[in-house]
Amino acid sequence: MSDFLTSEQLPGLIQAAYIIAGILFIGALAGLSKHETAKRGNLFGMAGMGLALVATLVLAARNSQFGDQRPLGVTMALILVAMAVGGSIGAWRARTVEMTGMPELVAMLHSFVGLAAVLVGYNSWLELRDLGGSDAVHDVEVFVGVFIGAVTFTGSIVAWAKLSGRMTSSPLMLPGRHLLNLAILVGSTALAVWFVVDDGELGLVPLLLMTALALLLGFHLVAAIGGGDMPVVVSMLNSYSGWAAAAAGFMLSNDLLIITGSLVGSSGAILSYIMCKAMNRSFVSVIAGGFGSDGAISGEERDYGDHREITAADTADLLASARSVVITPGYGMAVAQAQYPVAEMTKKLREKGVDVRFGIHPVAGRLPGHMNVLLAEARVPYDIVLEMDEINGDFHETDVVLVIGANDTVNPAALEEPGSPIAGMPVLEVWHAKDVVVFKRSMATGYAGVQNPLFFKDNSRMLFGDAKERVDDIVRALG
Ligand code: NDP
Repeated sequence: MSDFLTSEQLPGLIQAAYIIAGILFIGALAGLSKHETAKRGNLFGMAGMGLALVATLVLAARNSQFGDQRPLGVTMALILVAMAVGGSIGAWRARTVEMTGMPELVAMLHSFVGLAAVLVGYNSWLELRDLGGSDAVHDVEVFVGVFIGAVTFTGSIVAWAKLSGRMTSSPLMLPGRHLLNLAILVGSTALAVWFVVDDGELGLVPLLLMTALALLLGFHLVAAIGGGDMPVVVSMLNSYSGWAAAAAGFMLSNDLLIITGSLVGSSGAILSYIMCKAMNRSFVSVIAGGFGSDGAISGEERDYGDHREITAADTADLLASARSVVITPGYGMAVAQAQYPVAEMTKKLREKGVDVRFGIHPVAGRLPGHMNVLLAEARVPYDIVLEMDEINGDFHETDVVLVIGANDTVNPAALEEPGSPIAGMPVLEVWHAKDVVVFKRSMATGYAGVQNPLFFKDNSRMLFGDAKERVDDIVRALG
């Protein structure tokens, strides 16, 4: 073992393992971009991470062999115990989390990456200071890494609190909030100069002050974003966590961490851009925080008239006599776990010759691709699951639309009411169909807190109750 660790080929072997892991991660991202190849993408990602872990363990063992601080066995034992504890908690959470709890879990995981970057930054700077001080390049790496990490940490915690309902989804609109963000950026830049110029003990002061400012900035940027705009925040924090990891890679001089962090950072940025386009928001204003609603907290209280109701049996009759049906699922389908009876109902209707398709809004649910994952899990054929842009022109010729647990994503107020917090967001224009049946438990608003005029339109009827129970009723009625 000791010969292997000190052999001259070892650094080359580790680099080769890192390159292969990097290629596997690229394969993972490519695979995850399509439903059909998503599983393969996950396998690539797992293989890459397994290889990276083994290579990093060997590297740690080698460094420990050359360094002197503690015996190899102790270093390895510490790393393995940490991996076992972390891995067990991760495996337990992954097994027990409900699909509806995934968004907040993802937000929480992003916060860990941010915190890790902060701790790596402090550790790396203090270690070099004890060895006689770090150079300007390393100081900049530490400063930027800690800054991004701290913003990601508190931003992700606020996102977690908002997504899990522990904090209101309404935006926090402080007076002069953009000026506050600007002041934090200017202050941090001044502290960066002090940090790089100072060679002595005082270097810790600007680092600590900047960390406090960056923690405040992360909190404020995300707190200022309203419920309807949260999807962009989730993907943006995903991107920030990648850059935080890349920064940690620079501080640790670990090429694979730099590559992996950059892959996550850039794919998160591309996803944020796609989400911004889907929601008709400007990318720059997302980065600035508190975009979109610009102070509007909820729609005005309007009287849209009375709603009408329908029973499951009458909905089954309506469906059986339809030629074309479009199902637009939303967060309520995930809450009710209604995807299995929905798949069963789809099968029965297709057997009766009804043309059934699905219309998926890009921000339906609470995670990018949330509805696609649920429908794939219930084995709904991919070719009848269409994106919003692919189906929006077809509602005029659709007999029946079933809105199953969706609300904001089918809300005409986004197009018809300029003062609404969701104004400008493209939505599924389901109201153009001949009949619309809305499955939900009450007349409550959706995530953005805006009432939905769709429910009061002449061609809409409400089917109240838990979505799974109501769809089960329809499946039984269809025979
Ligand atoms: P919404 O969150 O707007 O509405 C979901 C509806 O489902 C509610 O009105 C609720 O009504 C109903 N519902 C809840 N539980 C059940 C149940 N068991 N059975 C039947 N109905 C149920 O959903 P959408 O998917 O339309 O919109 C998603 C929203 O989430 C958007 O505002 C989006 O911006 C935001 N968001 C999306 C993210 C993403 O990445 N996709 C991330 C973060 C936020 P009731 O209580 O009356 O039953």
